[in-house]
Amino acid sequence: MRPLQMVDTKTQYLAIKKEVDAAVIEVMESSMFIGGKVVNGFADNLAKYHGSKHCIPSANGTDALQIAMMALGLQPGDEVITPSFTYIATVEVAALLNIKPIFVEVDPKTFCIDAAAIEKAITPKTKAIVPVHLYGQAADMEKIMDIANRHHLYVIEDNAQAIGCNYTFSDGRVKKTGTIGHIGCTSFYPSKNLGAFGDGGAMFTDDDDIASKLRMIASHGQSKRYYHDVVGCNSRLDAMQAAILDIKLKHLDNYIAARRKAADFYDNAFADNKHITIPFRAGNNTHVFHQYTLQLNDVNRDALSSFLTEQGIPNMIYYPVPAHRQKMFDAFGGSNYNLPVTDWLTERVISLPIHTELDDEQQTFIAGKVLEFVNR
Ligand SMILES: *Cc1c(COP(=O)(O)O)cnc(C)c1O
Repeated sequence: MRPLQMVDTKTQYLAIKKEVDAAVIEVMESSMFIGGKVVNGFADNLAKYHGSKHCIPSANGTDALQIAMMALGLQPGDEVITPSFTYIATVEVAALLNIKPIFVEVDPKTFCIDAAAIEKAITPKTKAIVPVHLYGQAADMEKIMDIANRHHLYVIEDNAQAIGCNYTFSDGRVKKTGTIGHIGCTSFYPSKNLGAFGDGGAMFTDDDDIASKLRMIASHGQSKRYYHDVVGCNSRLDAMQAAILDIKLKHLDNYIAARRKAADFYDNAFADNKHITIPFRAGNNTHVFHQYTLQLNDVNRDALSSFLTEQGIPNMIYYPVPAHRQKMFDAFGGSNYNLPVTDWLTERVISLPIHTELDDEQQTFIAGKVLEFVNR
């Protein structure tokens, strides 16, 4: 059996090595490392894939979120509503800009922000909602956009984990996650579903005015070279990463299909086990399984984790401490929150290896060991 990994980026690379190596050499020979046609070409292709008017690359997904908040003109003291059950980047950038994150509950089935909880958290200071499409499944965007429209709020989608996910509205329209709100942000961190060989990120919008602000802020606030109109930052995707990502983009739908197939395998293996709740799949979107995350019932989660590790099965807890309980947010009143669903999930979730290269032999072994432990 091939060794088990949470994400097998090496085997994935070997399958497209020829193409990738040639593209990287081409960039090296061109000496066009920053900006230029490779970066622009990838951004165009990614915009097309998303059905989005604009795609603005950035240095990473965290920057994308920060630049999005800056471009929308959010000011110190403004509030953004976000889930606490998420990766820290989502809320860290708000705090960095002295924008107050207001943490709300997630839906216990989808792990994504609970639309009903959003409405209750709105105050006169609220400026934006930042839903996270956690583990690869879409938040309830139709309801979120409805709330945002009624209260005149912006929506910034954190699509770092769900690139390629299709969301179907009740009238039948289908859109990619990351293109539904005012701005969508994604990450090309190597383990993400569209992973670079280093860091990278991107922002999406259909709004020309927002697009030009995003571009300006990502490039030192420049409207044209050496004319700096607003305070910005320096956040660029380099040409080497763009060249690699452009090749991987052609495979993205196959990568998603492989992840979904691996998820089906686990789902079948764990179906009807009283100790395991398999990932919920909402009917209105295609879960792209950035993570395959179980909820455990009456199982010592940390003992299972140690057992799997001893058996050579990598496993992860995403996330052991919710954002509102991080020390970082003491100053933002993090400890005043009461988010029982979030706390409950952080204590009972465990993520198993999922990626594009898993085979039946590996998955049979992993599922067998999980079942052996939970059925003891
Ligand atoms: C990975 C991730 C980010 C940040 O992306 P980086 O490229 O690592 O900066 C933000 N939000 C979520 C939900 C993520 O999973």
